[in-house]
Amino acid sequence: MKNPKVLIIYTGGTIGMINDPETGALKPFDFESLYGNIPELKQFDYELDTFSVEEPIDSSDMNPQKWGDVAKTIFDNYADYNGFVVLHGTDTMAFTTSALSFMLQGLKKPVVFTGSQLPIGQIRTDGKENLITAIEIAGMVNMSGRSVIQQVALYFEFQLYSGNRVSKISTFNFEAFKSYNYPLLAEAGTNIRINQNALYRSEFNELELFTDFNPNVALIKLFPGMEVEHYKSIFDINEVEGIILETFGNGNSFTNPTFEKMIADYMTAGGIVLNITQCAQGNVVLGLYQSSAHFRRLSVISGRDITTEAAVTKMMYVLGKYKDQEERIQMLNKNICGEVTI
Ligand code: ASP
Repeated sequence: MKNPKVLIIYTGGTIGMINDPETGALKPFDFESLYGNIPELKQFDYELDTFSVEEPIDSSDMNPQKWGDVAKTIFDNYADYNGFVVLHGTDTMAFTTSALSFMLQGLKKPVVFTGSQLPIGQIRTDGKENLITAIEIAGMVNMSGRSVIQQVALYFEFQLYSGNRVSKISTFNFEAFKSYNYPLLAEAGTNIRINQNALYRSEFNELELFTDFNPNVALIKLFPGMEVEHYKSIFDINEVEGIILETFGNGNSFTNPTFEKMIADYMTAGGIVLNITQCAQGNVVLGLYQSSAHFRRLSVISGRDITTEAAVTKMMYVLGKYKDQEERIQMLNKNICGEVTI
């Protein structure tokens, strides 16, 4: 068998940052310098190619168009590589991994995102291990030559997560990510242990690229005492086509006739409302408590155990791909690419 070929795509993030001599703040650095800091890469018996975006960014500047650019780079190079590693800032990495799971359906090869909490030039960096193991995972094939991982995944601090099931949970710990509602895909110790049962396999035969996301989405986090009137302008179908409500516990909210009417009118006008929980772990169960019965009565969609990151990107994907309200509702109720437990 030939040595695996992996394409490393650099988008920015702490992993490649240095301190600006003038301000002292961390800012993205060019990829060549980053790459030169990891002589270990030369020991790989993989063929490694690299691609850097023209202007590396802090991941706070990511957006649907940039997600699409990364997805397109993978799509255009898909036939030539066994796998892909994407270097990305940690802050919004889980949004990008979620977005790409919708943009690139039918993957039969791994797309492994990673980054680091400390820049690679710093002595205690976590970036080297993250990058080296991510590359190893991206090139892993089984006895029949097929990729072990065939989905968008996120590797960080010895753990491989499903890309649309993970969230950033710490600004401080090297273990910066967690997937509360879905098991790990793999764990790296002295060897890499794959959790076969957790791996996603797409039913598509061919890789399909869809990047036409619709960003007319709003995310509203409920809090006790909230004045719902302040949010009225959001419930306007001409501005916002899909609203995600981050609700309490199992999908509950305060009792408020004005709020209910805002939702009902918005849905009658053609809007989509998805209810997800503020809790990191667990799921929405509409009607379990009286405090969520109104959502069920209004036919608000249950986000079940979806993460906020996957909910936002799923909404953008569904609104971009489907125009009919019924169809949009149907797709949001579906598990499209492993993002939700039905
Ligand atoms: N602000 C950085 C980013 O997301 C943080 C990181 O990479 O860890 O780009």
